[in-house]
Amino acid sequence: MFWPAPAEPFGPSRDSHDWMRKSACSRREVDPDWFTSDEEDFGAIERAREVCAGCPVQLLCRLHAEQHEPFGVYAGETAGERTQRLRVRARRLKEVG
Ligand code: SF4
Repeated sequence: MFWPAPAEPFGPSRDSHDWMRKSACSRREVDPDWFTSDEEDFGAIERAREVCAGCPVQLLCRLHAEQHEPFGVYAGETAGERTQRLRVRARRLKEVG
């Protein structure tokens, strides 16, 4: 599935939260295109996941993405994976009432 590209580049490093300055994706050698919205760009997604795997702010990033980022790879998840995980969570919360 392909998600439409937003006007701004992907990746938390484009934003201005303090924790983002510590992000692995803000390093100069990391290509923002790896954090793609194209769910079938497996090569880019794999490279993004490798960056995220060593990121010290992954948890904060995941929480941020859940609330603010409908597109792109964040905290090692594609937008589709993030949406799916949030749907499962919402369903479970509904079940426990
Ligand atoms: S978890 Fe990934 S996308 Fe999030 S800040 Fe770290 S490197 Fe960037």
